[in-house]
Amino acid sequence: THPVYGRIDGAVVIIGFGSIGKGTLPLIERHFEYDASRLVVIDPDPATHTFLAQHGHRHLQVALTPDNYRAILTDLLGQGGFCVNLSVDTDSLDLMILCRELGALYIDTVTEPWAGFYFDTEHNADRTNYALRQRVRDHAAAHPGGPTAVSCCGANPGMVSWLVKDALMTLSQDMGRDDPVPPGRAGWAALMQSLGVKGIHIAERDTQARRLPRPRGTFVNTWSVEGFIAEGFQPAELGWGTHETWFPDNGHRHATGCGAAIWMDRPGAITRVHTWCPTPGPQFGFLVTHNEAIGISDYYTVPGVGGDPAAPAYRPTCHYAYHPCDDAVLSLHEMFGSCRQQAVHEILTVDEIVEGSDELGVLLYGHARNALWYGSRLSNAQARTLAPYQNATGLQVTSAVLAGMVWALENPRAGIVETDEMDHARCLAVQRPYLGAVEAHYTDWTPLTDRWAQFPEDIDDSDPWQFRNVLAT
Ligand code: NAD
Repeated sequence: THPVYGRIDGAVVIIGFGSIGKGTLPLIERHFEYDASRLVVIDPDPATHTFLAQHGHRHLQVALTPDNYRAILTDLLGQGGFCVNLSVDTDSLDLMILCRELGALYIDTVTEPWAGFYFDTEHNADRTNYALRQRVRDHAAAHPGGPTAVSCCGANPGMVSWLVKDALMTLSQDMGRDDPVPPGRAGWAALMQSLGVKGIHIAERDTQARRLPRPRGTFVNTWSVEGFIAEGFQPAELGWGTHETWFPDNGHRHATGCGAAIWMDRPGAITRVHTWCPTPGPQFGFLVTHNEAIGISDYYTVPGVGGDPAAPAYRPTCHYAYHPCDDAVLSLHEMFGSCRQQAVHEILTVDEIVEGSDELGVLLYGHARNALWYGSRLSNAQARTLAPYQNATGLQVTSAVLAGMVWALENPRAGIVETDEMDHARCLAVQRPYLGAVEAHYTDWTPLTDRWAQFPEDIDDSDPWQFRNVLAT
């Protein structure tokens, strides 16, 4: 009864078979026609070999590197193939360029660099997602059209960009307006501006837990530990909106590129923000840098007179506000406190998790209805019934990969795109059966509600939604 969305004519190459790769494979099997003998998984981890062999899949046990990726992928992929990059430590842009040369479609969930970038790059400005994303954007601008390569199409970055559009239409309706669905970027940006949205939190609360308490010395998470440590140790970054009247002391702008974001000289995973999700209500989130914080602020920018990127007429603030699962919070606390990465990494599996859900949405704030959270509330128990080998967090990601693959097959010559540039309605329609409840929640909470009164804080009473009030001191 699962819909088959299309046919992949050439090889299917999955790079990386961790928590996301393992969950994506059954969705590919379910929803596409392809020649099963031409599906290959590339992953250096010997532990994945038995699983793949038992399921009759070809496994190439090798790590892609700058030296070998061209030879290996050229051997496997050609016209009509599909490269699904779900690994860490592979350079997204290099892989994208090669796939487009070969005439193959490409998708990833994060703009990833080759191994070494995150910890060995000298200057913090160069370790930002802004730098990683701008490289892809500059290449895309210089090489428009051609085979489709979908950049950053997971849950976030990815699905949340589609949720922003659904949320804007919901807000418009609930305000009694009858805005038509905008036809393109300029229309969407104008709609967000006219609705009075000052900014967006990518507001997430993960409550998944297993019975066993976290062993000390172990980093526990519900998705890639390696990926989370890498991004958590990048500088905090956010799309910087035109309503902001204050600037952080440790904040920096970029001299080149789209100019939509700033970075702070501090790791994102210990930078706390005041935010809100339906289940907990007010909570702390971590301002971990993400591609979508920059991409969404860039997409919804209304240019000023003369088009100077430094002086837009309108831009929303946008950033991640992430409360990972409780074990991950303790893991971060231990890691930053000891200045050492734990030697043991564990990703909670669907079967060991005994309770909890991943609540991932977009909180559009600052408008006449104050704030609207719009997103997916998916429990692990529900995820288990929907698709194999993944927890709730994984399924929100893999179903976005599925939607992105469907869109790419239906739009095979769209060039290099971000999820803001795709058909959000089509993508969400593919994804929805896997998202649990997708809900809209209005709240009258602001960052100035529910503050401890006993200590003075550096806040701006005149405008609750200033980033100065969102940032926890
Ligand atoms: P994971 O750590 O569970 O697995 C990563 C896999 O990549 C491992 O099996 C590892 O052996 C393999 N790998 C490492 N180096 C490789 C190389 N050079 N060549 C080929 N394979 C290599 O990670 P995960 O949870 O499956 O996440 C995979 C990717 O997806 C990460 O980059 C992560 O940041 C990203 N992700 C994105 C989202 C989103 O919502 N956009 C969510 C979760 C994860």
